[in-house]
Amino acid sequence: MRAIEAARPHWPEGRRSCVALAFDLDGPTGGAMLDGSIWRNPSYFTLGAYGPWRALGRILDVLAEHSVPATFFIPAWVIENWPAQCRAIVEHGHEVAYHGYMHEAFWTLSPDEQRDVMARSMRLFDRHLGVRPVGFRTPSGDWSVETMRILPEFGVCYSSSMRGDDRPYLLDAASGLIEIPARWELDDYASLAYQRNPDFPAGLDRIASYETTLDNWCREFDGSHHDGLAMTTLFHPKVSGKPGRIALLEEFVGHMRAARGVWFAKCSEVASWWTASGQGTTT
Ligand SMILES: [Zn+2]
Repeated sequence: MRAIEAARPHWPEGRRSCVALAFDLDGPTGGAMLDGSIWRNPSYFTLGAYGPWRALGRILDVLAEHSVPATFFIPAWVIENWPAQCRAIVEHGHEVAYHGYMHEAFWTLSPDEQRDVMARSMRLFDRHLGVRPVGFRTPSGDWSVETMRILPEFGVCYSSSMRGDDRPYLLDAASGLIEIPARWELDDYASLAYQRNPDFPAGLDRIASYETTLDNWCREFDGSHHDGLAMTTLFHPKVSGKPGRIALLEEFVGHMRAARGVWFAKCSEVASWWTASGQGTTT
């Protein structure tokens, strides 16, 4: 047996592979909000605000049309400022999960500062959405050595922050914290983000071809499905939920729906399955 097949995960009802679509509803949060510069750059603010205000609705429509669940990682500041839009996510049956308060880079925070962000976020999810999240995706792609011991203090049982596998894996045996790893290849920023002042991507002043972008995403799914793995995405409504781009997401979901034996799940369902099926200790 090929080595990769010997370590093939098991999925519910004998499904071949798992897809946990995920969106980071960052809105205008991030570095420019944390340092205050966004308030001197209204255009940049609106670029981010477009996500919860306008793009999110298109994403929810596509998910509903294809009957596919998703997980939305949301900085709590976005919930505070667009509560009705965030409630619509919950009303559509999707999962909401932690993503900082203003998209703080957790590796820059002390353990107590991280606890403050988590506690404040927990209060806001409860107040505006009536939800106690169980998932976390670290903002900006990394965290500090203490983070994975802090998360379970707030009821978090899975993270989608690391890159160490293409299957879920156990991050911390003591708490049972599960990781559902994502990959930059499935981050829409890598091909579609574009902004002047602040420049992004710096030194590469172009947006990738939409056709090529869709082809990349489909090939990532094809590989994951072939090997029976778990795939999640790092999509952003403000990037992918635009009039010309929503068709990419629609075609991508359609491509995956056409494959046989895909388990479409929320991240919390994947984490629960991984723990309950005893696969948490295999890696
Ligand atoms: Zn984010």
